[in-house]
Amino acid sequence: MDCLFCKIIEGSIPSTKVYENEHVLAFQDIAPAAPTHILIIPKKHIATMNDVTREDDLAIAEIFAAARHIAKEQGFDEAGYRLINNCNSDGGQVVYHLHFHLLAGKKLGALLAE
Ligand code: AMP
Ligand code: ZN
Repeated sequence: MDCLFCKIIEGSIPSTKVYENEHVLAFQDIAPAAPTHILIIPKKHIATMNDVTREDDLAIAEIFAAARHIAKEQGFDEAGYRLINNCNSDGGQVVYHLHFHLLAGKKLGALLAE
């Protein structure tokens, strides 16, 4: 399958890993939009939020658990952070493998840029 994030999971495209377990991988975003910008993805290829099913409950729970773990480990849990999923064209999705942006390290401002 020609999917950038599946290739990152396989290791055929390099990434800077932050966290990994059986279900999820977290790595540094290549074009950070904040001092901390980490992508958290399921190891299973799921194209968009619309394609998540109840069979994926554990993987989705593990994405949220990874976000909490990273926030605590990197020490921004109390200061705060934002976890974002972009879905399809209007949502601004560019890579069609489900991912959550974990953003932190400064006051993130308004939810929407425009
Ligand atoms: P989205 O617009 O929600 O689909 O976000 C895709 C994200 O993937 C963007 O923030 C990109 O900077 C990021 N990205 C694209 N290619 C890579 C890569 N090779 N390694 C890490 N992050 C990437
Ligand atoms: Zn994929």
